[in-house]
Amino acid sequence: MRRQRESNHPAASTPRKSRRIHAESPGKLPELAGCPRCHASYRNGRWTWETPPIGSYALDCPACERIADDDPAGELRLSGGFLAAHRDEIEGCLRNVEAHEKSEHPLKRILSLREDGRDLVVRVTDAKLVTQMGHALERAWAGELVLPKTTADRTAYARGSWHRD
Ligand SMILES: [Zn+2]
Repeated sequence: MRRQRESNHPAASTPRKSRRIHAESPGKLPELAGCPRCHASYRNGRWTWETPPIGSYALDCPACERIADDDPAGELRLSGGFLAAHRDEIEGCLRNVEAHEKSEHPLKRILSLREDGRDLVVRVTDAKLVTQMGHALERAWAGELVLPKTTADRTAYARGSWHRD
């Protein structure tokens, strides 16, 4: 279920959709754009960490949009007794994967890392992170890894899980 954004939400005052410059070519991103939230820039068809050129359009990047909308692309659910005993190392591992991926790919980020009962649920802005984080946990501590069938379908929510007793 999508949560309604409350009027006092920090993003509520930002008319994100109206800042999009689509009037001349609907559906197509401007040639040069910079995200005012994270300062990633869009050029040559991709988002990078290069500084946006002066005069770039202000355009929220897809990762910042997902974070503002609380709309993850997928999640990895961690469970089992090993998790409770090694929580800090496991979280460190997940953060390392994010840092490594994000340094090259601005759209790959952890959206939230939350406890759900005794489980830990990592929600991410890019479905591929579900797979990459799952593999990193498996490499480090074995366990049982279930990956999403595909991360190529951008419309499907990618669910994965990792369990170790
Ligand atoms: Zn951004």
